Amino acid sequence: MIVISLQSGSNGNCLYVESRGVRLLVDAGISARQAEDRLLVRGREIRGIDALLISHDHTDHTRSMGTYQRKFSLPVYITEKTLSAVRHRTRLGKVSDIQSFIAGDSIQLAHMTVETLPTPHDGVDGVGFILDDGERRLGILTDLGHVFDGLSDALKTLDAIVIESNYDPTMLEQSGYPKHLKERIRGPGGHLSNRESAELLSGLSAGSLRWACLAHLSEKNNAPDLAIQAHRELCGDELMLYVASRYQASECMEV
Ligand SMILES: [Zn+2]
Ligand SMILES: [Zn+2]
Repeated sequence: MIVISLQSGSNGNCLYVESRGVRLLVDAGISARQAEDRLLVRGREIRGIDALLISHDHTDHTRSMGTYQRKFSLPVYITEKTLSAVRHRTRLGKVSDIQSFIAGDSIQLAHMTVETLPTPHDGVDGVGFILDDGERRLGILTDLGHVFDGLSDALKTLDAIVIESNYDPTMLEQSGYPKHLKERIRGPGGHLSNRESAELLSGLSAGSLRWACLAHLSEKNNAPDLAIQAHRELCGDELMLYVASRYQASECMEV
């Protein structure tokens, strides 16, 4: 499996995965042009992608969903509740090829099984994804809310993970964000901190994960070196770490 983060953060999320001829996108939070251009930088063509998976209704994940669907003729896998929230929130336009699923269901795309994991994040019906191509298992778990029951058990089965490491608690506390926003971010429907993500990964037995890609980093309340440092402190030096950029495509991360 090859994974390319095209962008990650509150300014827009989009991730590409391919495995033996199956190609998919997770979330549509950057413009169609950006998604197309950043895939091209890594030698990939956006047309002919097999599926667009939508994690939840927030606009940083859904802003360009309608455009991707129309422009690139992508089937969109989304829950009905998320779809109706997106219709309320954005000017979605006419979309066809909607493939509904229920949070918790598995989706089959040729040899690829996409398991969906309901999350307690404050979207209406959010899910995380575990992609299993029969050889490797990749977790795509951002916008989690809090560390919920079953999360660490799910992590134990993974070969690689894209995981939310949203904020440094001290930076968030000292930031100029209004109190209600600080409380939302660190509350049960917000995001995981560097420390929470690091604790989750440190609970895994040595060597089970090939790599972790730290994702959805806050611009104001985090920095890549702080996120890495928090993970090094708890996970040691063995685990390979990537940080997904808020501005550009990652390298091709191989699972
Ligand atoms: Zn988000
Ligand atoms: Zn969100």
